Amino acid sequence: MLRNILLKLSTSDTARQIISHFGPARRVARRFVAGETLDEAVAVTRSLNRRGIKAILNEVGEEVASKAEAVAAARSCQVLLQRIEAEKLDATISLKPSHVGLAFGPDFCYENIAGVVQAAQTLGITVEIDMEHSADVDDTLAIYHRLLDTFGEGIRQALQAYLYRTSADLQRIIARGGGVRLVKGAYRESKEIAYQGKKDIWQAAKVLIVQCFTPEARKNRLYLALGSHDPALIEWLIQIAETRKISRSSFEFQMLLGVRHGEQQRLADLGYQVRVYVPYGRAWYPYYMRRMAEYPANVWLIGRAMFEG
Ligand SMILES: Cc1cc2nc3c(=O)[nH]c(=O)nc-3n(C[C@H](O)[C@H](O)[C@H](O)COP(=O)(O)OP(=O)(O)OC[C@H]3O[C@@H](n4cnc5c(N)ncnc54)[C@H](O)[C@@H]3O)c2cc1C
Repeated sequence: MLRNILLKLSTSDTARQIISHFGPARRVARRFVAGETLDEAVAVTRSLNRRGIKAILNEVGEEVASKAEAVAAARSCQVLLQRIEAEKLDATISLKPSHVGLAFGPDFCYENIAGVVQAAQTLGITVEIDMEHSADVDDTLAIYHRLLDTFGEGIRQALQAYLYRTSADLQRIIARGGGVRLVKGAYRESKEIAYQGKKDIWQAAKVLIVQCFTPEARKNRLYLALGSHDPALIEWLIQIAETRKISRSSFEFQMLLGVRHGEQQRLADLGYQVRVYVPYGRAWYPYYMRRMAEYPANVWLIGRAMFEG
């Protein structure tokens, strides 16, 4: 119930006005968001890289109101790429289709992302595409496949285990090779299209992990990034990789900034590839509220911050 309230608040403008100006909430946000500027994100990334952890840099932002805003968002991805190159950071970048204009049609969105991927490819940087609401999945996957047709590699697509359709979507990617970020899913979806219970989602994620290591997936060099903090899923992936003798270079663990910091370091110290999602930017509010909704115990962090002043 608290999860639903928090997800509702994440899309409310009034709540955004109040919460994003509330001191304790802003202080807690700094745990999950690197800061409002690219300089702050670069500093966080440098410190992760020094500890053997890679990053996914993401300027937070969602649905834009005009084509000009979408083009500007794609342009700031290009600035980000140049900065990664200039600072020699070990990082990919991530973007949301809605932020680069999906609402104005898949062709327009494709052109914006293709410009980013082209620039990224010349610099040898991977571009990761987030997955948003279920209504956007068809268009997002069509864009991803079109990008693979054009650029061949260097692009990774997030897939959500809670959607019933995901096994079929994954199979289409496996058939041609590519890269996926497998996550449980962070949006509110109906029971007609998505598993609702934690156990069902967990079971679906386990089956999808196995699917990523079939002989066909390995032959086609599918790359798996598991975007999860769930200890049981992480252990499941480690076990499968060990029993099937899968090289540690063909998968990685991804986690969010501010979540299970110790586990990120433990896995990196064991020699696994670990990548941390480093969001930054002025539009941090909806991102932050979704992190609250995923783990409502985080709300207590705000209470604590109120008393710490
Ligand atoms: C790198 C990355 C990229 C992602 N990209 C997408 C995307 O493109 N689309 C999408 O829909 N979703 C995305 N997600 C979110 C994902 O779908 C889940 O909502 C989120 O990861 C929580 O699920 P979990 O697997 O970590 O397991 P959970 O069972 O939710 O968490 C396991 C444990 O991790 C800790 N934990 C988890 N979340 C939090 C938190 N927010 N705060 C504090 N502790 C926490 C808790 O200890 C919890 O018990 C992404 C997640 C990651 C890590």
